[in-house]
Amino acid sequence: MSKHLDAIVVGSGPNGLAAAIYLQQKGLSTAIYEQASEVGGACRSGELTLPGYIHDLGSAIHPLGMASPFFKTLPLDEYGLEWVYPDIPFAHPFADGSGIAAYQDIDQTARQLGRDQHTYFEMMNWLTENWADLEGDILSPMKLPNHPIKMGRFGMSALLPVTTFSNLFFKEEKTRAFFYGAAAHSTLPLTKLASASFGLVLHGVAHKYGWPFPRGGAKNIAESLAAYYRSMGGIVFRDSPIQDINELPRAEAYLFDLTPKQLLNIKGTNFGEGYRKRLENYKYGKGVFKIDWALSEPIPFLSEECRKAGTIHFGYSTKEIENSARRSGKGYVTPDPYVLLAQHTIFDSSRAPKGKHTAWAYCHVPNGDETDMTPFIEAQIEKAAPGFKDLILARHTQTTSQMEAWNPNLVGGDINGGLQDISQLFTRPVASFTPYNTPDKRVYICSSSTPPGGGVHGMCGYNAAEKAYSDHFK
Ligand SMILES: Cc1cc2nc3c(=O)[nH]c(=O)nc-3n(C[C@H](O)[C@H](O)[C@H](O)COP(=O)(O)OP(=O)(O)OC[C@H]3O[C@@H](n4cnc5c(N)ncnc54)[C@H](O)[C@@H]3O)c2cc1C
Repeated sequence: MSKHLDAIVVGSGPNGLAAAIYLQQKGLSTAIYEQASEVGGACRSGELTLPGYIHDLGSAIHPLGMASPFFKTLPLDEYGLEWVYPDIPFAHPFADGSGIAAYQDIDQTARQLGRDQHTYFEMMNWLTENWADLEGDILSPMKLPNHPIKMGRFGMSALLPVTTFSNLFFKEEKTRAFFYGAAAHSTLPLTKLASASFGLVLHGVAHKYGWPFPRGGAKNIAESLAAYYRSMGGIVFRDSPIQDINELPRAEAYLFDLTPKQLLNIKGTNFGEGYRKRLENYKYGKGVFKIDWALSEPIPFLSEECRKAGTIHFGYSTKEIENSARRSGKGYVTPDPYVLLAQHTIFDSSRAPKGKHTAWAYCHVPNGDETDMTPFIEAQIEKAAPGFKDLILARHTQTTSQMEAWNPNLVGGDINGGLQDISQLFTRPVASFTPYNTPDKRVYICSSSTPPGGGVHGMCGYNAAEKAYSDHFK
């Protein structure tokens, strides 16, 4: 413990791993301290229901992981990462048994959208053609954009509330519900400014890259990152919860893959009252109630589009999704929740015994809410797939407090490291051009509580490590 290292990372989520890799690649001596017995944070997998059924314990679908500008530069395939591409990235079922698919092909997708065909095609075509220029600005902290005209055009639509955006651009109720399905990933009420940005980015990456996931489990993203990191001489200490910075070896820089609430509890930091107050005022977003199932057969969706999609968004009308996203106070339960579901085993048989299947789903609930949403989630699926419940061999559920007990970064069940509304999207955890720095010159925040926020992409860790490197080692 007395050895002097260049940099230490606390927490081995995708962002902690990205930060440590960046610094190790620069030739520094680094180590990671992780409180859990496995690396990966909210990107892990394991048996939750029955032997031989592999479930993703946190994240499940990884367009941002595959498209991450940093992860793309790493030789992760040499360390066991293989992407699986569902035939259809995502789909949305309706009460009449039909479904709309987000095919990777924009034209094929647009052709399902009636009077919105042309608008959708033009919108997504522009987005995918310009994605290479836009992504650098979208995935960065607040700064002057590298491509101001393109960012201006994107921002004019992206900063709108989803409700306004959809009313402005789409005429068909089904197109609006289809767009809401991706936008509601934000966990924001759909009337909030900037909620449209999530829909645009998630539709855009579906058409640009697809919505892939790792063969064998999400854990293979984290394990391949950790294996690559170790191959360069990086050290990972597991089962090592850190409560005091003085427990760690001396280092020039300490990067914390934690959210503000946890960072405030770390002893030995030198923050000052003003900064502490700002971190105390940091807002957390909605929580999730999660279910995993072991199934005897694939989910019997009425719609062919849903049977062939990796991800399904449930919400049988725009009103229903709006109501579900609006919920706030604890204990307030929507009987028809917006649900996200992933069905990996249709495309990756390695995750279940031969012929058997799994499914993963969650719905948003108020932060810290403990309601058992099982009957409501299963009822939503049953409407699009009659007979679903008869296929359940076993289920495993997690409330918000169980999520947080599993990974302390999931404060109140918030999976994005903090509310991602307009006040915190680019200015997390505090409004600053260098949000990764803290007043303690040694201490950096590198978790999803910094820009660009939640998701398995590692860009928060990459940005924080780049800053720490330029401050201390360049
Ligand atoms: C249910 C769920 C579903 C999701 N679905 C998706 C999805 O489909 N696609 C997607 O891209 N993203 C998804 N996400 C979000 C994504 O997983 C997170 O945004 C991402 O993992 C954040 O990475 P991170 O490194 O910032 O934090 P985390 O992954 O949370 O890692 C933080 C790490 O720090 C460790 N730690 C905490 N405190 C300490 C301490 N005191 N000492 C040492 N170590 C500590 C934790 O154990 C953990 O390993 C989902 C998350 C959840 C929970």
